[in-house]
Formats: sequence, C-alpha cells, structure tokens
Amino acid sequence: MLSNRQLFLNHLAQTSDAPLMLEMVSAEGVYMTDIDGKKYLDLISGIGVSNVGHRHPNVVKAIKEQVDKHLHVMVYGEFVQSPQVRLAEALIKTLPNTLDSVYLVNSGSEAIEGAMKLAKRYTGRSNLIACKDAYHGSSHGALSLTGSEDFKQNYRPLLPGISHIHFGDAESLSLIDDETAAIVIETVQGEAGVRHADSSYWKALREKCDETGALLILDEIQCGFGRTGKLWAFEHYDIKPDVLVSAKGMGGGMPIGCFISSKEIMGVFTNNPVLGHISTFGGHPVSSAASLATLKTIQKENLLQDVANKEKIFHDHLKHPRIKAVRSKGLMMAVEFESYDVLKPIIDRAIELGVVTDWFLFNDRSMRIAPPLIITEEEIKKACEIILQAIHDVVE
Ligand code: PMP
Repeated sequence: MLSNRQLFLNHLAQTSDAPLMLEMVSAEGVYMTDIDGKKYLDLISGIGVSNVGHRHPNVVKAIKEQVDKHLHVMVYGEFVQSPQVRLAEALIKTLPNTLDSVYLVNSGSEAIEGAMKLAKRYTGRSNLIACKDAYHGSSHGALSLTGSEDFKQNYRPLLPGISHIHFGDAESLSLIDDETAAIVIETVQGEAGVRHADSSYWKALREKCDETGALLILDEIQCGFGRTGKLWAFEHYDIKPDVLVSAKGMGGGMPIGCFISSKEIMGVFTNNPVLGHISTFGGHPVSSAASLATLKTIQKENLLQDVANKEKIFHDHLKHPRIKAVRSKGLMMAVEFESYDVLKPIIDRAIELGVVTDWFLFNDRSMRIAPPLIITEEEIKKACEIILQAIHDVVE
C-alpha cells in the first residue's frame, strides 16, 4: 500500500516543488500533532484561519449540532436557513449600521469576486484600483487585482481597467476618479509582509471615494476576525468601508467567506438580470454554524483583550542581530531577515524544533507569525525561544 506521502506526491495536484509535507493527524488549541506523535506549536493558524485555535470546543459543538439537523438543503438565497440568518444578524451587530446586508460565499477569492461584481454593477463603472503587493486571491478576477507581475504574467489576458497604486501613499489616491467603480484594498496588507498605513491615509482615501463615488472595498480576509486586536481592522482607523470582505478566520476552521454592504448596494443583484450573483454552497449551514460559534467565542471569551499585550511579548523576545525588523498589527506579524536564503533554513529548523512558521508570498525574507489568538504568554515565550534557537543553529 502506498503511504499518504507517496499518494500526496503522486496524485494530489502540487502547488510548488517544495511542499512542507508535514502530516498532521490531529490539532487542538495552538498545537498540531503529526503522524509520528510529534507536537508542533502552530504560529501561523493554518495561514490566518484558526484565530480561536484548532477545534475550539464551541465550534466543534456547533458543527456537530448542525450536522445532526441538516447539511445542504438548497442553493444560497432561496430557503431560510437558520445558521445563515443568525450568522448575518451577529455579523452586522458588530458593524456600522450602513453595513447591514451579508452575502455568504465559500472562500476569500469568491468573496472578492462578488465584491468586484457588486461595485461594477452598482456604480455602472468598470475601472478598479488595487495596490502593489496586494493579494486578493487566485481566481481570475482576484488575480487581476493582485499587485505582483510575477504571479499574473502567465495568465493574461486578465481583467482590463485595473490600476495599481502604492499602499499607504496618499499622493497616488489621485488615480481614483469618477470612472472608478471601486478601490479594493487590504486594511492591513498581509502577503506584502504586514504593512499598515496611518489614520490620515485612510481618511484621505475615504474622502476621495466619497468625492468620486468610487466604492471603498476593504479586504479583511486575513486581517479581520480579531487578528489585529479589533474584530475588524478598519476599527483602528475610524473609517467605514462601503463593502467589507471576510473569510479565513471567520469559519473557525471551516470554509466560509462573505462580503457585506448596505441593503441598497446589495439590492442590485436582484434585478436586471435577476440572480446577479449566485452560489450553490455559499454559506453552507455547517460552516455558517461554525462561523457564528467562532464570532461568539471571540466576543464571550474576550479574545481581543490581550492581543496587544501578546504582540508586545513577541516584540520583547524576538531580538537578535539577524532580525532586521519586526512589523506587526496585533497578532499579524512579520519578522524580517536579510534574505530568503537566510530565512528559509531558519523556518525549516524551527519546524524541526516544533514551531511552524512561514514566509509571505510577496515578502520572502520575512517570517510570518500569526498564532491563534488564544496562545498564552508562556507559549509565546517558548515559541520565541525556539525561533531564537533556530536562528542560532542556522547562522552561528
Ligand atoms: N485576500 C487576502 C488578503 C488573503 O490573505 C487571501 C488568502 N491568503 C485571499 C484574499 C484569498 O482567500 P482564499 O484563499 O480563501 O481564496
């Protein structure tokens, strides 16, 4: 019989020639356990997903209860499904009252696709603005927004009418004009290696959108759902988006995404033609139940309260001459080294020592740190010790 590793290589489509190939058989809280019984501290939450930890008991309970009631019963938007409507209600309670209509989908890319279509249809315009080094997903529309020529070059033609500006540069906001349907922007850039802008930038961006009628679409797929210490990252900047996009951490480990806007804007999907955006599995009842349990857990267990303190503990402990910079917004962190060639063996060594980290798509000299928000102070200190040990083992 072929081993799982052999089957993985032989029959599962590959995305690189160097997959990590860890074989986890269970995961609980901040730990994952592999087939040999080795435990790993998960410092990346399955890339920004397990914000409430792996298999949070509330999430598992909600999933089990929903599985015992029903799985898929109808495509999105036709039947009244309790998990979907209860989730939508809970989400909008966390948001400004202009964001009161939730479209549930299955993933981040899909949510971005929906938001792009929404902006085009609502404004009657087709141009979009995005940022350099932005990542919004791998589907054709989302890829068109991506700010990396490398990733796009072999997949053209992509969507026309998309211009890229520098994230955080107020001057380039002049590119937004009255032919712009929307600007799609991460509130905190993830794959660029954790880049954030100050409130004055966001205020200028909001004003420019109001002036021109372009919609402000915030991609909080990676930075939302508590990752930065606020439920929504835009809460740091005193602005309101016209469309908010979420996924990843929203499902507590189950696949789900959404884009949220006003009833007025979202209403365009119902006519000319009807069914302007549809999905078979969007807002799957089990994923919706898991998502509601995730949101309630963040709220009831006050998981956001300690994020800033935990961020500081990382900063205090990650000090080494080889570390060039540590950038962060809450528990979304990038630890920068001189080059990928320095970083990669450190990541590999940390994995051997039982700590899983990673790098970023558009910043491969920075180590990604985005642990479950439930990580304890002791676990953070232990993780930092292991990272420092890995640096020592590799470079000294
Ligand atoms: N936007 C951002 C900011 C992301 O980080 C990601 C995923 N890395 C996506 C969109 C795409 O989400 P998904 O992989 O669920 O399609």
